[in-house]
Amino acid sequence: MEISTQILQQYFGYDSFRPNQASAVKNVIAKKDTFVLMPTGGGKSLCYQVPALALDGTAIVVSPLIALMKDQVDALRANGVSAAYMNSSMNPLEQNETFHQLKEGKLKLLYVAPEKLSADNGSFLNLIKGINISLFAVDEAHCVSHWGHDFRPDYLFLNGLKRQFPQIPIIALTASADEITRQDIIKQLNLQQPTVLISSFDRPNIKYFVQPKQSVLSHIIQYLNDHPNDSGIIYCLSRRGTEDMANNLKENGINAAFYHAGISSLERAQIQDDFIKDKIRVMVATIAFGMGIDKSNVRFVIHADLPKNIESYYQETGRAGRDSLPSEAILFYSNADVMKLKKFAVIEGNEEQSTLMLRKLQQMTDFAEMQKCRRQYLMEYFGEPHPGNCNSCDYCLSDFENWDATIDAQKLLSAVFRLKERYGKNLIIDFLRESKGAKITDYMRSLPTYGIGNNADRTYWHNLIKQLVINDFLHESNEEFSVLKLTEKSKEVLFNKKKVNLQKVKELAKAVTVAEIETSYPKNEIAEHPELFDELRVLRRQQAEKENVPPY
Ligand code: ADP
Ligand code: MG
Ligand code: ZN
Repeated sequence: MEISTQILQQYFGYDSFRPNQASAVKNVIAKKDTFVLMPTGGGKSLCYQVPALALDGTAIVVSPLIALMKDQVDALRANGVSAAYMNSSMNPLEQNETFHQLKEGKLKLLYVAPEKLSADNGSFLNLIKGINISLFAVDEAHCVSHWGHDFRPDYLFLNGLKRQFPQIPIIALTASADEITRQDIIKQLNLQQPTVLISSFDRPNIKYFVQPKQSVLSHIIQYLNDHPNDSGIIYCLSRRGTEDMANNLKENGINAAFYHAGISSLERAQIQDDFIKDKIRVMVATIAFGMGIDKSNVRFVIHADLPKNIESYYQETGRAGRDSLPSEAILFYSNADVMKLKKFAVIEGNEEQSTLMLRKLQQMTDFAEMQKCRRQYLMEYFGEPHPGNCNSCDYCLSDFENWDATIDAQKLLSAVFRLKERYGKNLIIDFLRESKGAKITDYMRSLPTYGIGNNADRTYWHNLIKQLVINDFLHESNEEFSVLKLTEKSKEVLFNKKKVNLQKVKELAKAVTVAEIETSYPKNEIAEHPELFDELRVLRRQQAEKENVPPY
């Protein structure tokens, strides 16, 4: 039997490696740099823990969370592995003790917190110069990159690692990196011809649902009552949000606690521990909670607010179902959240970063609004082809109906045409619905198409635009601002009266319709008197036919 398999069984009690674990382990043992991209729960820890035991010397593991570090070290020790950690929660005496063990070569693994790397201007790396080091493991490696969603300045001290220790293999691990971030991690850490291992991101035991963000609390209480034995996490955007939610749940007799970065680290460790030991059923948390949390029976992850990008969403939902049993991810979606996050995304004086964040937010929005298999969207986002029809997301589980969108598509395309393909969807919708948008000029008001879309609400038009774009009836350029442009197919609809047949999901369509709140857009007469609208439509049609111009 290979040494690594022997270690796996002896120290960890598992029969076999998961697919990319084996390659990672082999590669590191061969002292080669390695990049591991594996979903949360995929088993990244073993990729460095097993080589640490197979090689001579001490493995230095950089890991960003103190609580997690302690858990890992405790677990290793329980398995008979000599491991220790160093972080800011220890007093100098304890640190000295650990350092002594390290010097004596008594440790197989030493976990260090990133702030340890930057302390005294990086003296830690000098300190370990004389020590026999087997490997460096950089966990949550996306923290080293500005492109990642969780950049940590302390990680930048890892820049010098390769230069100072050219012979020692580095293994970088993350659950969360798109192509740009991946390249950047490799560059920042100076990995030398790394072997890049990318595991499938699909988590087939997690079902994905998106719901309109309405009556969130009562929906959640209902859900918790329907699943009385299930434990899980509810993510909220703000600290205040977590407190309110947790208190509300408690008032309703639910065993819940809140968790955010404003709570002392001691208390946080306690809450986390209680959750892992099933003493707390529902954890209401900001994103501060959960990085690397190893609770296997998390049955649901609910997002009460919209995450700011797909990476975060996927990593957070990935905390469900590590035990491979059926689990659910539920996202409450509203346009108001998108607006709120847009404000956060724009960073003064950093245009590149702002553009990137806005693009990521747009992709998050697309995920929630698109009429498409959620799993397929997610997999494709991470660069993995997926056939769709997963049969375990709200889209795949709902009924379809045919939707003859011809007339409304003509109106919309006419508006784009009349406004000379110069505007984005918001203005086009304002224009169609005669909304009091500030950018509507007198000239626009004088056009025959103005107000022709009063028969439906904003969400409907929004949704139709999405569908038309997906089906190539319309092109949306997405540089800094969205601009809608006509395509060959749209011209056929406008001038040759080609039919537009779309499909929509009954349930989902309803969900998205109520998702957006129409406060600032007063209903007007025509919307309330559809018969009036029909007349107008017929008139405009006749006129259009005479003049051979678009019907609206
Ligand atoms: P990650 O860091 O990728 O999120 P972990 O390393 O914490 O994942 O592992 C997730 C879970 O999977 C842990 O409970 C771990 O014990 C288990 N696990 C990892 N590798 C294996 C394996 N080869 N066989 C069985 N269980 C495994
Ligand atoms: Mg991990
Ligand atoms: Zn699906």
